[in-house]
Amino acid sequence: MLVIGLTGGIGSGKSTVSHLFAERDVLVIDTDLIARQLTAPGGEALAAICHAFSGAVLRADGSLDRAQLRGMVFNDPSARQQLEVILHPRIRQEVERLLARARAPYVVIVIPLLVECGGYADLLNRVLVIDCPETLQMERVMARNGWTRDEVVAVMATQASRAQRLAAADDVLMNTGAQAGLRAEVERLHQRYLELGMASMP
Ligand code: ADP
Repeated sequence: MLVIGLTGGIGSGKSTVSHLFAERDVLVIDTDLIARQLTAPGGEALAAICHAFSGAVLRADGSLDRAQLRGMVFNDPSARQQLEVILHPRIRQEVERLLARARAPYVVIVIPLLVECGGYADLLNRVLVIDCPETLQMERVMARNGWTRDEVVAVMATQASRAQRLAAADDVLMNTGAQAGLRAEVERLHQRYLELGMASMP
């Protein structure tokens, strides 16, 4: 089975592209979604986060106050590392569990911080980078999240540069145009991955 790591900067179009793969009945494993499940009420990582960051990260209803936690780790590398030590091994374990159950020519794993954090190279056969100019990233995230330009720039500054990401890519999907063009590009990659995946099957 061929395993594709899909990555890209904030607002590059990772979710949009991963939905287009899912529409083609491709198994998409989304590490952001896994992180949200692990930190949902009753989730495996929530107690450990409360223990490490105090009850201040919990809302009255017992759910995680994500904005509060984001604020606590944003400018504090040691707090960020503490959070990563809690989350990353658990996310990886869940990815491995889902991969072990997968029966398909290929699967896509969405890993937003693949280039920044690593940790998946041994599982991946190819890296697909969703790429677009930084100005477009900014516009999209301002529109999607209602953030100011400065807020987007601050997040982008914590992420890999476009050049660093492209250097790690086996495949690049330029997401600058209309959704129709994107659909055709995803279809082209889908056919290629099916071919490669089938060739790698016993
Ligand atoms: P990411 O998951 O990488 O943060 P998204 O897929 O959420 O990025 O895309 C960011 C925003 O830009 C979303 O609101 C999405 O609908 C929009 N978007 C992404 N690609 C396109 C495109 N080709 N045309 C128009 N809007 C797009």
